[in-house]
Amino acid sequence: MAKRKRIAVIGAGLGGLSAAIRLAKQGYEVDLFEQAEKAGGKANEINEKGFRFDTGPSLLTMPFVIKELFEYSGQRIENHLDVIPLNNLCKYFYPDGTVINAYSNVDKFAEEVSTKTKDAAQSVKSYLKYAEKIYDLTTDLFLLSDFSNAKNFYKPGALKTLFQINKIDPFRSMHKANKSFFKDPKTIQLFDRYATYNGSNPFSAPATLNIIQHVEYNLGAFILKKGVYSLVESLYRIAKNKGVNFFFNCKVTQIIHDNYVIKGLLVNRNGIHEKKDYEVIITNADVNYTYNNLLKDSVSKSASRYSKLEPSSSALVFYWGVKGEHDNLEVHNILFSEDYRNEFKDLFERSICPDDPTVYLYIIQI
Ligand SMILES: Cc1cc2nc3c(=O)[nH]c(=O)nc-3n(C[C@H](O)[C@H](O)[C@H](O)COP(=O)(O)OP(=O)(O)OC[C@H]3O[C@@H](n4cnc5c(N)ncnc54)[C@H](O)[C@@H]3O)c2cc1C
Repeated sequence: MAKRKRIAVIGAGLGGLSAAIRLAKQGYEVDLFEQAEKAGGKANEINEKGFRFDTGPSLLTMPFVIKELFEYSGQRIENHLDVIPLNNLCKYFYPDGTVINAYSNVDKFAEEVSTKTKDAAQSVKSYLKYAEKIYDLTTDLFLLSDFSNAKNFYKPGALKTLFQINKIDPFRSMHKANKSFFKDPKTIQLFDRYATYNGSNPFSAPATLNIIQHVEYNLGAFILKKGVYSLVESLYRIAKNKGVNFFFNCKVTQIIHDNYVIKGLLVNRNGIHEKKDYEVIITNADVNYTYNNLLKDSVSKSASRYSKLEPSSSALVFYWGVKGEHDNLEVHNILFSEDYRNEFKDLFERSICPDDPTVYLYIIQI
């Protein structure tokens, strides 16, 4: 019998776990190296004093992507996770006391906006249609494909997108686009906030990112009954069952290559350094870190292109165990700052922590 080809995966975040499951299913022998003591990466969990916290993601969108991964590995998502749709996606609190509920029912949400702001319900509906169009034109090309692969740009759908490039709105900022749909600063602020989903600044990020609003309002937002970490636990179990070999507390210190012909990697496990041979390595670590620290490359075209990109903003996260019920709060809550533009100037231009930051509260009881 032919020996199965071995592949190394660096990192047991959601990306590394998904890659490992797919490769194992395709018949490869997969070794997964994770520097932390358990899987999850940013999607981790903390258990302390009777409280459980998801450390990173809190909101699940596009669950069909995860469903497809479960099905690919021969599993039914229903047997692993309780995916619950939210009726109220987020409750927004403004400094003047206004509260806007972002209902998942678009008619109800549009009505809420028209009651609480100077904008009409129809403006909200037209706006979400505009966001849907961006999604329709870009999903196959960017969202569900590898857009660094030039071949994807020769697909018939790519030509359709190219001819309608203005409709994907890449030439103005999210804020400018939102301002063209709405007159009330509150509505604009609400939709500008979506830039922060990937750590961007709405005053400079391209309006194409308004796609996110379609994903949330038209396709739905979800939580997992047992918290986001239950997804990691399920993927970890599936990967184990498929035969993936996990090496925790194992930091990869170098990818050994000869002009990008992969030879293996160096790992540090509890101070013991080891060289392992592989011809194929998949890295789930950040791309800049991979070039600079693992491939030891800061000069190639790709390495210098990535090093020039501005990193997204980080977040300051507190995990608070709170006793009692708070009926006025939803699962997701936003407490807006008074001066949104100044907040982003602090974050992205002055590189300081704003005095009056927007606060996001995520409350889940399990
Ligand atoms: C505070 C916060 C809130 C978020 N909220 C949401 C949300 O609500 N919804 C949403 O969809 N997304 C959200 N995100 C984004 C989401 O968490 C990430 O997109 C996702 O978890 C990234 O997964 P990943 O596998 O690509 O990377 P990571 O989770 O970063 O995984 C990379 C893994 O590689 C390991 N690694 C790195 N270098 C090495 C090395 N040299 N050797 C061995 N191991 C290594 C790391 O330890 C890590 O486990 C949020 C992120 C944060 C931080």
